[in-house]
Amino acid sequence: MFIDSHAHIDGPEFDGDRDEIIERAKAAGISTILNVGTGDPHSGAFERAVALGQKHDSVYTAIGTHPHDARHYDDNAEEKIKTLVKSDRVLAWGEIGLDFHYDNSPRDVQVAVFRRQLRAARECDLPVVIHTREAETETIEILKSEYDGTERRGVFHCFSGSKDLAQRAIELGFMISFSGIVTFKKADELRAVAREVPLDRLLIETDCPYLTPIPYRGKRNEPAYVVEVARCLAGIHGVDIEEMGRLTSDNFRRFFKI
Ligand SMILES: [Zn+2]
Ligand SMILES: [Zn+2]
Repeated sequence: MFIDSHAHIDGPEFDGDRDEIIERAKAAGISTILNVGTGDPHSGAFERAVALGQKHDSVYTAIGTHPHDARHYDDNAEEKIKTLVKSDRVLAWGEIGLDFHYDNSPRDVQVAVFRRQLRAARECDLPVVIHTREAETETIEILKSEYDGTERRGVFHCFSGSKDLAQRAIELGFMISFSGIVTFKKADELRAVAREVPLDRLLIETDCPYLTPIPYRGKRNEPAYVVEVARCLAGIHGVDIEEMGRLTSDNFRRFFKI
């Protein structure tokens, strides 16, 4: 059995066949999907994500303001998320963080909103899902200053950073989740990073609908394909795929307390 620890299945990409892809995932051995609601907090996207988790036994929910949407975050957004995370089946606050690759929101706004959401998640006693791109130093510095001494930390999702970032994230008590990127031909460096991550810190995800793993490149990504991420990590760590499925699922359940 496998768990897709990070997917986006509440959006328009899956409006035509959402129930089928959830069934297809079950048939492929995916017991659980963590669906991550993103978007402008005032758009209704988070309510939509929470409702999906309440409709399906295999779907849990995370909500938070993505760095792309940091410019939409305000007091009302924070109050809304604080209320919604109390709903049934919401496991985490995220994804939150910094994205200095796309810079869809100004960097100073991203930093301020990242700090605010870390504090809010801590108040709500929820782990966080971290998105970081081209902002490694800033991300670690902020986590160090905001999360010193907390017990429940979070996940670095869709990890594609350096060995140094992975090490520092692990030292800070975080989990490391790999997506289909780790299966890509040119990802030798990332596979070398994955080899160094202790087995009890590993998670797997699709981040669908994007980042489709090999051998499904070119198709829309979906939770069933998380098996390919497990296969790749199993090869890297020299265990069989069932064992990788079992241990990443155990890690997920232990970490998110389900
Ligand atoms: Zn992300
Ligand atoms: Zn994501």
